[in-house]
Amino acid sequence: MKLALFDDYRVGLVEGDRVYDVTPAVPGAEAGAPGTFVNALIARWDELAPRLAEEKERARAIALDAVKLLPPSPAPLQIFAAPANYRKHIAEMGALSVTPKGKTAREMGCFLKSPASLTNSGRGIELPRGSARRFDHESELAVVIGRRARNVRRDGALAYVFGYACLVDVTMRIEPEGRAEERSMRKSFETFTPLGPWIVTADELGDPSALRNELFVNGERRQSATTADMIVGIPELIELVSSVVTLHPGDVIATGTPEGIGPIRPGDEVAIRIERVGEMRLAVRETDEPAAFGY
Ligand code: MN
Repeated sequence: MKLALFDDYRVGLVEGDRVYDVTPAVPGAEAGAPGTFVNALIARWDELAPRLAEEKERARAIALDAVKLLPPSPAPLQIFAAPANYRKHIAEMGALSVTPKGKTAREMGCFLKSPASLTNSGRGIELPRGSARRFDHESELAVVIGRRARNVRRDGALAYVFGYACLVDVTMRIEPEGRAEERSMRKSFETFTPLGPWIVTADELGDPSALRNELFVNGERRQSATTADMIVGIPELIELVSSVVTLHPGDVIATGTPEGIGPIRPGDEVAIRIERVGEMRLAVRETDEPAAFGY
């Protein structure tokens, strides 16, 4: 199944170019508390999925391009992200890299991005107004966790995955001569974590270990690789993170970017496409106001 969230936190199942509004079958979906009910939906998925499928039979079908897509896991407790997980990307970073040469998540662990930085095509990406800094796209496969995971061994780790989505790890680059800015801050500006366009459930997607991952800016392809090129694979990332802290339903792991990262500017359109997941299109614009702190 493809699980989407749209407009005013409506829950949808996507089929082709239509989304079916199945909100009435989701407990707590209309009780306010934007988005947190999705974690409970994911936690109870095995029990609730048949009810959603039933609701879909009587639901109205809406054209996908007529809705505003929200992040499909809108309130995860945690977003972990893998650094330096593709060799050709490590090679291209040079002086802009903050991960010590040759080190990966296996040696360094993952970093955090703020859950409040999530967005989807309904809002797009907003860069701080007037900033002269460099902001980059990083095209990544996101893993959405389906059940509590603590000290999970890599052998059985895929059983803890709810599904997969496209994720752009938008990043304000360091300036080689500048301040030693924390990575988590540079990657946590509001809207710097596009997630979507929906979550494809693990049973529908199947094996995630060789998916084509592409990113386009204004129609020009900038990134193209497959998840087979990852250095630290998805099961090992789950083992690593769950060794530190419990992962909860709805939590997100960004699995790292391949080569081809580059700058985005207001007015650009970014499109990320991952095989068997879908394509998410994001308009890039400036925030309405400049940041109170000068970036
Ligand atoms: Mn990244």
